[in-house]
Amino acid sequence: MMYVVSVVGATIGVLVKHPANCPRLRIWLWTNAALTLARSLGKMLRSVTYPNRASDWLANGVKLLTTAAMAWFVVGLVFVLAMKGESRCDPAIYNLALALVIIEMTMLLLSVLLALLIFLFTSHRSAHSFTVPGISRDAIEKLRAFQYDDTHTSDDVTCAICLSDYERGDLLRELPCASGNHYFHADCVDTWLREHASCPICREDPTYRQNANADNDALAVSETEAGNTNESVTASVVIDVAAAFSQEAAQNSAAQAATGNSASGAVRRTSIPSNG
Ligand SMILES: [Zn+2]
Ligand SMILES: [Zn+2]
Repeated sequence: MMYVVSVVGATIGVLVKHPANCPRLRIWLWTNAALTLARSLGKMLRSVTYPNRASDWLANGVKLLTTAAMAWFVVGLVFVLAMKGESRCDPAIYNLALALVIIEMTMLLLSVLLALLIFLFTSHRSAHSFTVPGISRDAIEKLRAFQYDDTHTSDDVTCAICLSDYERGDLLRELPCASGNHYFHADCVDTWLREHASCPICREDPTYRQNANADNDALAVSETEAGNTNESVTASVVIDVAAAFSQEAAQNSAAQAATGNSASGAVRRTSIPSNG
């Protein structure tokens, strides 16, 4: 508002005090003052009548005046640059026009910079809020989803988020919670999970097992060879033990056959040292 008053005041003051030539700059200055004043009045009226329907056409009027002021600024810039070499113009008028053009250019640059900063800030913040408090889209997609039908035997038939009963064909998402699987509409829980890393019912992290499984999978893959080796080692040990046992049994039974004892006695006798 201060700006508008000073622009209009300075324009009137300078133009009335210096009725010299310079018709182009005079026209530009008058029009510029009129546009600035009209725009600011439009904005003021709009903020007063904001909820009313009148503010719609006032908003359009302000937009139109803003566009006109921008175009007029370019005209002024051209005028001032064209005047630079000429000395016919009254210095006061020229200086005023130059000052206004510089001020408007600065404000334009500042508003562009501000808009850029706001855009960067909001886009950064939305990216931030997407990744930090909630669960990533990928992790949500990995949770089982299915279409609700009569074969769904779980007790919970109502979405705890929107409180409406499931209907056949609804896409549900299953959260693998420790206290039992919890079901929700996929749309409802996906929105929730993007902002909270927890089940809406039991507050458990639904990706906990997913992560654990992923770790286990990684371990399983890396230890597959080791596991195979262990198995074959175990198997060969079993075979060795069995061979040794049968060998011993054979020797014992041969000895017992010679002494007349029963084969069961041989088994009992060979099992004693293996236990001890
Ligand atoms: Zn729901
Ligand atoms: Zn749960």
